[in-house]
Amino acid sequence: MKLIVQYFEWYLDKNDNLWKKVVEETPLLKRLGVTDVWLPPAYKGKKGSDDSGYGVYDLYDLGEFDQKGSIRTKYGTREEYLDAISSLQASGINVLADVVLNHKLGADYTEAVLADRYDEEERSQVLERVNIDAWTGFDFKKRNNKYSDFKWNKQHFTSVDYDQLNEQSGLYKFVDKEWSNNIDEELENYDYLMGADVDFNDDEVINEYLNWGKWYLEVAPVNGFRLDAIKHIDFDFFPLWLKALRQNKELFVVGEYWSSDVRALENYLMESEYTMQLFDVALHYNLYDASLLKADYDLRDIFKNTLVLNQPEYAVTFVDNHDTQTGQSLESMVLPWFREIANALILLRNGGIPCVFYLDLYDDNIQKLMELRSLKSKTVYDYFDDPECIGFSYNCNQGLTVLISNGEARFKKMFVGRHHAQKVFIDQLGNCDEEVIINEKGIGVFKVEAQSVSVYSLKGNEDD
Ligand code: CA
Repeated sequence: MKLIVQYFEWYLDKNDNLWKKVVEETPLLKRLGVTDVWLPPAYKGKKGSDDSGYGVYDLYDLGEFDQKGSIRTKYGTREEYLDAISSLQASGINVLADVVLNHKLGADYTEAVLADRYDEEERSQVLERVNIDAWTGFDFKKRNNKYSDFKWNKQHFTSVDYDQLNEQSGLYKFVDKEWSNNIDEELENYDYLMGADVDFNDDEVINEYLNWGKWYLEVAPVNGFRLDAIKHIDFDFFPLWLKALRQNKELFVVGEYWSSDVRALENYLMESEYTMQLFDVALHYNLYDASLLKADYDLRDIFKNTLVLNQPEYAVTFVDNHDTQTGQSLESMVLPWFREIANALILLRNGGIPCVFYLDLYDDNIQKLMELRSLKSKTVYDYFDDPECIGFSYNCNQGLTVLISNGEARFKKMFVGRHHAQKVFIDQLGNCDEEVIINEKGIGVFKVEAQSVSVYSLKGNEDD
């Protein structure tokens, strides 16, 4: 049963030395039943050791070359990264590498180019045509052609957000370049996201990314990828890229298509030929809304219009990530009171593969939820019958019964199986003290406290 952990958050201190911490924490991750660990981008970003990795400068510099002010990245050196991968894999845990191909930042030099400046919110509107100096030249002199002699220049990009000549910010698309028309239609055309936008209709780019992907898997033998910003990359690219890389290796892949509209997610799955899973961004926003609205949110709708409901085989469910944190680009952090509930909703359902966020990983009760996940069985009974209180129960050996309230404390009768008659269930999270005795019909009357979650199973679990 797959269980992913996102093992980083935005505000990590570089002195935390994440790659070393991964090695130290491998036993914990193993104990919690984690099968896959998503690690942050491992290559050198524009801000060197202060860069989260999403401001990609050099995809071949995994903390090895003195570029952008340091040898190491925010998370450590190349050797430490490879040690982290080895440590996880030696414990049977898969590693997912974060792949950021949409854009590059921190170019080494500018190039003169004729560009049209566009309305950033309405990307069919040209505001002016202007000669600019664009930061599009990457020569990686300090790497000195090791691993690759590919150099990036303006031929490989469509657009930038800054004109050095006039010292002006704006959305500048090069006159001889087009944005992809096989792309998300938000803002009319959402090809451009940030930095120097890579042109996925350029053959040299495609070839270079194929080469880089093969190189990466040789150097860092990860088991799969988390693909960044796929909403802003030509929809034809990843099926092609993944097909090439999967010739030699099975890869688990989850894409970040940031849209709360489940139809957009399903459309991408179709367009990309079901070559990957997608994060269930629609569910994230349901969880977020539920945390904001408290008892005014109808809990029966918590899975409404989500990927995990419509396409459970392709959904990776999550509560939050590094982008939804306070102060970040997609700020929408599920409120603290709802985090235990939200994690129960991703960890203890059959649909979707859950991805637990670093900031939740060290919470005692969320760790318990991760461990309780293994008790699930196929047969589940849903009790989505009260706007303020929902429950679900598995007919399984140890019993597993989940009850959630976003209003007052509640009781609910739920079926756990006749084989549990006369047995005692307790709330494994410790949120409710009352023991529940199952009746001869296999039914118990379970309690949840106000705005809380309780997860019941057999008292004196034989495995303990
Ligand atoms: Ca793009």
